[in-house]
Amino acid sequence: MSNVYNDNIVVLRIKDWQTADKYVVGFTKNHGKVSFIAYGAKYPKSVNGRLIQAFSHLQVELYEGSSVDKLKACESLGQPFKLDIQQIAYVALAAEVTELLTEYKAPHEEIFELFLKMLQLIEEKNPRLVVLAYLCQLLNLIGIGPIVAACVSCGQKLESDGRFSNEHGGFVCQECSNQGEIIRVTTAELWQNLNQLDFENPQPFSVKGGDLMELEKILHRYLLYHTDKELKTLDFLAQLTKQS
Ligand SMILES: [Zn+2]
Repeated sequence: MSNVYNDNIVVLRIKDWQTADKYVVGFTKNHGKVSFIAYGAKYPKSVNGRLIQAFSHLQVELYEGSSVDKLKACESLGQPFKLDIQQIAYVALAAEVTELLTEYKAPHEEIFELFLKMLQLIEEKNPRLVVLAYLCQLLNLIGIGPIVAACVSCGQKLESDGRFSNEHGGFVCQECSNQGEIIRVTTAELWQNLNQLDFENPQPFSVKGGDLMELEKILHRYLLYHTDKELKTLDFLAQLTKQS
């Protein structure tokens, strides 16, 4: 008999499995990232299948398996989030990065809480900024968040534009280096604001389009440096932005 455990989960990704089943990757409150098979979930009458949707928040009962777990039962923990296609595309990016950067069964409750808070805020605020703030804070929780408040090399507080170093993990001032991508001081300040964003009570701050684009570019290269994987959701997002 395999062990059964209960947990709260937010669904990160679903794919079809065999003819009638779904393979699900999610992030749980107490067990970190998990994957499981929901047998029969593709049948139209399956209750589990109806509940297991991208980014749904559920209570699950799972049989522990050697490589992948199996769903015993699940229950909804609140209304599904009503997201439009753009919001979905941004949450999918957050989910993809979360899956990439976390290990299976390594508990990290703060990541679970942050993902849920991000989902709540995205219904009200600019999804691009909300997800960027999520990604910045996710990196910090995992321990690879870049230093953007001072030069990583000499510790000087940043006062003018500098460079961003993937290798050193952050902002490098002009005196220390002239190699790597340029990062404007205002972009580094935006990054600090995103690091500090309180998802439950978001403080207003102004954002310039140029800084936002620069930050995204640097962040995506930094993620690529750490994961060695191109993000699939970025293409989809790029197509969406082109259309709008
Ligand atoms: Zn320096």
